Parts: sequence; structure tokens; C-alpha cells
Amino acid sequence: MVQMAERVRPVRLEQRPSPRHGRGVFAASAISQHALVIEYTGELISHHEAERRYPVRNGVEDPEHTFVLELNEELVIDANVGGNDARFINHSCEANLEPIAIGNQMWLVALRDIAAGEELGYDYAIELDERHTPANKRRFPCACGAPACRGTLLRAKRAPVPAQVRAAHAVVAQRLRALAD
Ligand SMILES: [Zn+2]
Repeated sequence: MVQMAERVRPVRLEQRPSPRHGRGVFAASAISQHALVIEYTGELISHHEAERRYPVRNGVEDPEHTFVLELNEELVIDANVGGNDARFINHSCEANLEPIAIGNQMWLVALRDIAAGEELGYDYAIELDERHTPANKRRFPCACGAPACRGTLLRAKRAPVPAQVRAAHAVVAQRLRALAD
């Protein structure tokens, strides 16, 4: 896994206040399409443990919950413990990054070429167990400013995966097969 990251030119990032929300992470130099930009680090825990740590009280999410990212069906990454700058990357409805699991690591992969100075963002694509009612959408508002902003961090259940995202997954899978050979 690590060899795969080292083969690409190192990516320089910068963390500073964002016009979108709180702190954001920006490209300090140009980033190539499909580069592994940064690993989303943190403590690997079960979904059950994540729910224990960050319970939803009266329908209100703990703000720290936003630093929890699902790795796969068994595990989530709690970036409140051992998290790096990746936890400050904001949501965007027009993402330039996609989280892709590589073994037990989660990497944020560039969906396209990214210019120096651009803010990084990925689609948090939150899916609730319950229905995505207008009230639920308002609980997770989005102000990413993208022309196609859907106004919420929630992603429609069974929404089609964008072609750019499918392509990034395919490229990473192909690189992993090449490394295994
Ligand atoms: Zn948005």
C-alpha cells in the first residue's frame, strides 16, 4: 500500500480557513488526476463502537461525528483519535476527491487534475437508515457553493455513481493488481 503512495510525486497541502465551512484543506501545488492525495488516518473501530462513542441524541448528531468515516461494512475510522489533516477536508457536491479503501487504509484520490490553491472536497454522501425527508436534509445542510449544490450532505439512496468516481475506483484497483503481480 505504502509503495503505491510513494510512487507518485508527493502532494503538498495546506490547511487554512475555508469560505465554505470552518477550516479547509487546499492544494499547495498542482495535483494529478488519480493521485493518492492523503490517507484519512484515525483509530479503526467497529460501527457499533462508533455509535457508542457518538450517539445521536434527539435526532441531533454530535459535531465530532463528522470526523468519522466509514472504511467498509465492518470498520469505521475515528479521526478524533490520531486523525491528520484529512479530517478537515470539507464536503463538496462537486467533489475533486473520492475516498477509496485500500486494505485497511482509506485514501482520498484525485478525481481530476487539481490546480494549486483549489480547496479539496469529497462527497460525504451520508445515507441515513431512516428516510431522507426534507427535515432530515435540513439537519445536514450544505453550503459548498457548487452550481449543482444539492443543499444537503445527504446523498439520495441508490443515486447512480458518477462516471469520474467509477473511473477512479477502476484505476486504483488496476494499480493494486499490478502491485500484486
Ligand atoms: Zn453542496
